[in-house]
Amino acid sequence: MSQPHSHIVIIGGGPGGYEAALVAAQLGATVTVIEEHGLGGSCVLTDCVPSKTLIATSNLMAAMEGTRDLGIRFDHDVPGDAAGSGRAPVSVSPASVSHALADAPRVYARIRRLAQAQSADVGMRLSREGVRVIDGRARLARPGVVAVGDEEIRADTVLIAAGAHPRELPGSVPDGERLLTCRQIYDLPDLPAELVIVGSGVTGAEFASAYQAMGSAVTLVSSREHVLPNEDTDAAMVVEDVFRRRGMRVLGRSRAMAAKRTADGVEVVLQDGTVVTGSHCLLTVGMVPSTAGLGLAGAGVEVDERGFITVDRVSRTSAPGIYAAGDCTGVWMLASVAAMQGRIAMWHALGEAVQPLRLAHVAATIFTDPEIATVGASQQDVDSGKVLARVVKLPLATNARAKMDGFGDGFVKLFTRRNSGIVLGGVIVAPRASELILAVSLAVEQHLTVDEIAHTFAVYPSLTGSITEAARQLMQPVEPM
Ligand SMILES: Cc1cc2nc3c(=O)[nH]c(=O)nc-3n(C[C@H](O)[C@H](O)[C@H](O)COP(=O)(O)OP(=O)(O)OC[C@H]3O[C@@H](n4cnc5c(N)ncnc54)[C@H](O)[C@@H]3O)c2cc1C
Repeated sequence: MSQPHSHIVIIGGGPGGYEAALVAAQLGATVTVIEEHGLGGSCVLTDCVPSKTLIATSNLMAAMEGTRDLGIRFDHDVPGDAAGSGRAPVSVSPASVSHALADAPRVYARIRRLAQAQSADVGMRLSREGVRVIDGRARLARPGVVAVGDEEIRADTVLIAAGAHPRELPGSVPDGERLLTCRQIYDLPDLPAELVIVGSGVTGAEFASAYQAMGSAVTLVSSREHVLPNEDTDAAMVVEDVFRRRGMRVLGRSRAMAAKRTADGVEVVLQDGTVVTGSHCLLTVGMVPSTAGLGLAGAGVEVDERGFITVDRVSRTSAPGIYAAGDCTGVWMLASVAAMQGRIAMWHALGEAVQPLRLAHVAATIFTDPEIATVGASQQDVDSGKVLARVVKLPLATNARAKMDGFGDGFVKLFTRRNSGIVLGGVIVAPRASELILAVSLAVEQHLTVDEIAHTFAVYPSLTGSITEAARQLMQPVEPM
């Protein structure tokens, strides 16, 4: 039974906080959200929304680079430039061949506009639901009391959704001009001519892909052997191969020790003494929780050795009446996970029936070109024996739609339980894999079998045809072990 007269105070207005606020208001609680920088949080204002808006531009530019293979020529193109036209190539000056150019000030202005509009939408939604929003920095004052400025607010339940911020390399403080975090890059007056990106995790790989497509010369510095070391290796190798083919300099096994500004650019010093130079350096070396000054210790809220708030699967912290959600818990740094943790916290706090957080069903995407989308069990789970599964991987190079669209980099991979054929997970590497993965997510969530997927109609020609084809291949009986 819900407890509608509770007063819920939420610290942080990102997806962990505002989605929780909407649920609590819907259940009849009195809700206050305290946010110091802007509703929508870093997700909307600096991280997820801005980076995906940037990538919308870079994807279009990458697609335009491929248009000649598809038989498209622009006004300034020289006939005969296209392969296979049958005409002798004409010697042309570079100026007579058109290339798409990124207009950085417009790109960045669009990003800021879109982020502000999204933030305003969140504000309107909260106000429609009767949620009080306070602009300020909150801290836990005493049990059941949150302070913001001079005001003290009594709370039956507190939700901490304070997020995280970019980690800095020791001794290399970002200046917002040459040495940048991912939150400062949209303030540049122009595109970086030579961008050195330190860190080849999800954020580093996404920015490397985007800036390469927009025309920057990109060097990606990875401390591990390959880019995206925590992802499906087959998928990471496809993306790394595409990066290199398009001219990106990828430095594997290269730990950056320091990055510093020079008179007209940057220098990044690697562990082996090599110095990598560029016009700008983007540091993407992880995130740290934004929990300093919240008064956690005084309130009895435990954190782990990296400072992330420890929570259980219904978002409870170690302190009674205090929940936490999102990046400040370090559970899985995704907006969808933050939002779900926040909603679960409210359902639990307000006495509703609640399903604990199930990370095995989370769908995620790395928005490189091509995208990598994953859900459920992973290749690592299978290789380590944690999950007993059959695996099929179908390259998209043989898919008719992929051929028509002019790309061949990517695959569909499915993991299914050995005997029952129930789908346990999958990986899709393709343009718009973020949209395609829903079919596999549904299968995982609903415990569908490969037979059920194989009997489902896919459109011909389509990329989803490779999902049903992979399922058909998995229908064959299992060889006795
Ligand atoms: C470059 C980048 C790209 C990303 N892209 C994606 C993506 O495509 N998809 C995806 O799912 N995830 C993406 N993420 C991750 C996603 O942005 C986060 O998982 C998400 O923002 C977490 O939400 P949150 O509510 O926990 O925190 P946040 O969105 O960080 O919000 C926390 C808010 O709390 C406020 N706050 C902190 N302390 C206080 C205080 N004491 N008082 C008042 N307010 C306070 C902050 O101002 C902030 O607004 C990306 C992250 C980065 C860095």
